[in-house]
Amino acid sequence: MIGVLGGGQLGQMLGLAGIPLAGIPLGERFRFLDPAGDPPASAVGEHVRGAFDDPVALDRLAAGARVVTYEFERVPAASARRIAATVPVRPGPAALEAAQDRLSEKRLFESVGLPVHAYRPVDTREDLARAADELGLPLVVKVRHGGYDGKGQALVRDPDGIEAAWAALGGRPLLAEALVAFDREVSIVAVRDPGGVTAAYPLVENRHRDGILDLTLAPAPGAPPELQAEAERHAAAVMGALDFVGVLCIELFEAGGRLLGNELAPRVHNSGHWTIEGARTSQFENHLRAIGGLPLGPTDAIGHAAMVNLVGDEPDRAALLAVPGAAVHLYGKASRPGRKLGHVTLVDEDPERLAARLAAVRALVPGRPDPGVGAFAGSVG
Ligand code: AMP
Repeated sequence: MIGVLGGGQLGQMLGLAGIPLAGIPLGERFRFLDPAGDPPASAVGEHVRGAFDDPVALDRLAAGARVVTYEFERVPAASARRIAATVPVRPGPAALEAAQDRLSEKRLFESVGLPVHAYRPVDTREDLARAADELGLPLVVKVRHGGYDGKGQALVRDPDGIEAAWAALGGRPLLAEALVAFDREVSIVAVRDPGGVTAAYPLVENRHRDGILDLTLAPAPGAPPELQAEAERHAAAVMGALDFVGVLCIELFEAGGRLLGNELAPRVHNSGHWTIEGARTSQFENHLRAIGGLPLGPTDAIGHAAMVNLVGDEPDRAALLAVPGAAVHLYGKASRPGRKLGHVTLVDEDPERLAARLAAVRALVPGRPDPGVGAFAGSVG
């Protein structure tokens, strides 16, 4: 039995990759800890309802489990440590801790030679003013802990904005970053087994809408082999430094042919959902293989893929399913603004046919063209 901290859609898709019912005979059973009443993953395993810091719930999750993993990185590290005293937790608590603090994330990237854009830790109003002096404006201010999907961020465009950013975010440990004039956002999903064997999926291009992933193109169009090799090298180095076991994702900015490290997710990732149909082994199955000590599966892409997130509104599922080749995934969640309700993946060996089908999906799920740097989506929340 595999225990999972978190029962959202990532847990659901982990379950679908591992249970015999789904046709992939890994023969696993799952138990998910989640505070929600009826989380998506309860469709594919036992649900323990409880808080992530409730010792009784943690012990119930771990009882009889062979290994425990997590599907989101805001699990308290102390909870992972409690479980790790009796059952292996993969990836280990150290990976959780590194990914929970934007400052340690940056320092980890730097320590393995992955370049990052200029940044300063900010704890006081004076630190923020000094960061603005030293890095210049515009400046992106982010909370070090707990921000996600563009929340807990503010863009300081002019000196007056410093006060506003401090009023909105101050009092918590912050990080100030130079605004990067990137060409595009890319990410790499990679996997490492307990023996240190690694594999990586093709680099993908990600476009965001209101701070939330909107579209992933896989492999990233026009990415030269050297960029892929560079991303794989960085991912392997980060995983090695953490003695990582499982799947992780590194979000990167591509600027002038170089990669800059932005964020680390120590788990299966939304920008890897295309791998369910678009790669020889999905990120979910490879995560289960890695944490179970099984041989990793091939990570090559089958063709070109596009993944569109369904966010906020209930989509017209019949219309989506009528698009040739559309694989529609709905997580069973109620509609709510900004909530990820599902995704659609298209795979085709012919990029032109893929573009036509993507346009058909786009007509049903309107996105926005890549907003670029001028329309920074960071919001305060
Ligand atoms: P994050 O939570 O760090 O992934 O930021 C959310 C989104 O905000 C990113 O995907 C980028 O689109 C944008 N963003 C974050 N930091 C910067 C930055 N320093 N420069 C430009 N854009 C950024």
